[in-house]
Amino acid sequence: MKFSPNKPSIYGETLESLTEAALAAGYKAFRSKQVMEWLYKKRVDRWDAMTNLPKDFRAWLDANYIFYPTRPLIDKRSDDVTQKFLMELEDKSLIETVLIRAPQTGVGQEKSRKTVCVSIQVGCAYGCKFCASGLAGFRRNLMAAEVVSQLMHICRMEDAHTERAKDEIASFDNIVFMGMGEPLANYDTLVRTIQILNADWGLNFGARRITVSTSGLAPQIEKLAEEGVAVRLAISLHGATNEVRDQIMPVNKRYPLEQLLPAAKAFQQKHGRMLTLEFILIEEVNDSLEQARELVKIAKELHAHVNCIPYNKVEGLPWKRPSLRRQDAFVDVLKKAGISVTIRREKGHDINAACGQLRLKTEKAMAEAESRPGNPFLKSES
Ligand code: SAH
Ligand code: SF4
Repeated sequence: MKFSPNKPSIYGETLESLTEAALAAGYKAFRSKQVMEWLYKKRVDRWDAMTNLPKDFRAWLDANYIFYPTRPLIDKRSDDVTQKFLMELEDKSLIETVLIRAPQTGVGQEKSRKTVCVSIQVGCAYGCKFCASGLAGFRRNLMAAEVVSQLMHICRMEDAHTERAKDEIASFDNIVFMGMGEPLANYDTLVRTIQILNADWGLNFGARRITVSTSGLAPQIEKLAEEGVAVRLAISLHGATNEVRDQIMPVNKRYPLEQLLPAAKAFQQKHGRMLTLEFILIEEVNDSLEQARELVKIAKELHAHVNCIPYNKVEGLPWKRPSLRRQDAFVDVLKKAGISVTIRREKGHDINAACGQLRLKTEKAMAEAESRPGNPFLKSES
């Protein structure tokens, strides 16, 4: 399903595309640069506040573009660390954006860093057996504006209480594509979004602070390696053999490990930076010591960091998180083999707690409450 809005959002434009549109409408090329300055540097989201623009140009902008195509509905502060937003899109679809205020594993432990986790699709077509986003099926791809706008909502919100260094534009430190959807299945949006975030006329946000997480679309990993954007790559491995991956990730039938691992290796070699292998620990599925030993081989071959994530229970699915003892035994095998490994224990630090679960619950509750007046989920808190 493709969604075509009446008016596009200004947050989906690049400097080039806006300049082209402005020139075609008879305005000077430099006007588009001024618009970008207002949007990303000064964080203004009203045309009439863009005071150095002529009135007729502002009227033209107003006639042709909207600001946000996303509307924050629920701000569900799950704890001090994780703040979840359910965003309503113009076609009433729901997506999730999460702000995590937490020390990032491995870097600057002492400093609290802010990471924003964005969604890139409504639902997901890849149907991993453990995932809430996959459970609800795929509805549609997001447009770049819908991704950039998730970030600009958070940016504006955080501006109020963030001290930024002079050369820092964004009021958060990292962006991860780990919300709903498979980033590499919405490739054009991913690349355009990164371009807008990265550009000096845009958010001027360093590519190495952006992590793209993928369930393993091998050809697109190779394509991304050639794209010239040095983002970090996280591979959702979740199984160290085809046998285990096949059980829980249908994508593995299409791109089994013998295809995925060389593609990941090519990416790593191109950018020279460590990859991350995500490994959700699911009881009796992938948490055996044999799996740990196989994982050691892969991590060594790819020169990758391993991030173990105890499974987050999804309502309606049978999978369980292993006991602490089993988790420790698994991680120990990796540590003893000299692999760089982290395990996310604290609830609030778990970025993946976001993955489709809030949306799924809300949609269920909305469906149940549909006939009742005064549906609390439809009340905007923004
Ligand atoms: N589609 C991409 C990115 C979104 S999912 C991918 O699969 O990588 C982001 C991460 O959350 C993935 O590693 C995914 O496997 C993980 N995840 C999904 N459901 C989870 C759950 N219930 N508990 C823990 N992690 C989960
Ligand atoms: Fe899609 Fe990622 Fe969930 Fe798999 S884990 S269903 S690829 S969002």
